[in-house]
Amino acid sequence: MKNISLLLLFVVTSLLYSCKESKHAATNKVYKQQVKEYAKILREYPVRDSAGLKYGADWAGTTNFSMRKPNYVIIHHTAQNGEEETIRTFTLPRTQVSSHYVVSRDGTVHHMLNDLLRAHHAGVGRWGSITDMNSCSIGIELDNNGSEPFSDALMNSLVQLLERLKKAYNIPTSNFIGHLDWAPGRKVDPSRYFNWQLLAAKGFGHWYDTTGVTVPADFNAIYALKMIGYNTAKPEIAIQSYKIHFVPKDTSRVLNETDRKIIFSLLSKYQ
Ligand SMILES: [Zn+2]
Repeated sequence: MKNISLLLLFVVTSLLYSCKESKHAATNKVYKQQVKEYAKILREYPVRDSAGLKYGADWAGTTNFSMRKPNYVIIHHTAQNGEEETIRTFTLPRTQVSSHYVVSRDGTVHHMLNDLLRAHHAGVGRWGSITDMNSCSIGIELDNNGSEPFSDALMNSLVQLLERLKKAYNIPTSNFIGHLDWAPGRKVDPSRYFNWQLLAAKGFGHWYDTTGVTVPADFNAIYALKMIGYNTAKPEIAIQSYKIHFVPKDTSRVLNETDRKIIFSLLSKYQ
């Protein structure tokens, strides 16, 4: 009897799995073809890379190398209604956008791209001296329309995922940021509903402590935002992203005395 139950469970699970497989079979095939194309370039010798350089005659292949690893995590909200819509967007070649992971409202994690490959999620922006974030980061899209709280199930799955990524790639605590931090003005995700304080408490990004902080009179808060990583070419826009991330209840674009304390505190942690 027990064996029959197990057999039934196996059959049902297999059926469910094959249904799930077939749903994305066509685009999964495109993924595999694309990976094959890149593998072909990697196999090519004498070495040819995308800079188009050819030093074939003097080729001396080293024996000591590995794959490049991500060093940042960029968190997004999808601004869409449901994961299906997002998965569809990320599997339509004409959109040319993608992320490594999509975390749905119920906590399901969809892994869409190998961590070692480059997703198209960050776009134009700047953080510190980094100008090509797609090349050094993992993109995580959270299933959320931008004007609603993030579900507990989603946050729990996100924390578990971040724990694995941080450990696997030895990503520094400072290097977990939002799309809005990367591209102030152009992007506002994840929204004011996102709990960065909770993430910082778990070791992903920093939070501040303003108790007992004395800010020097000559402290330049805008310069400090720049030192933290923000592109401050347009200060009010950098302030907007800082506020959404660190003072979500404040919708202004001006810094007050509390902000100066917060930024002073953050600076010591991000440096
Ligand atoms: Zn985004």
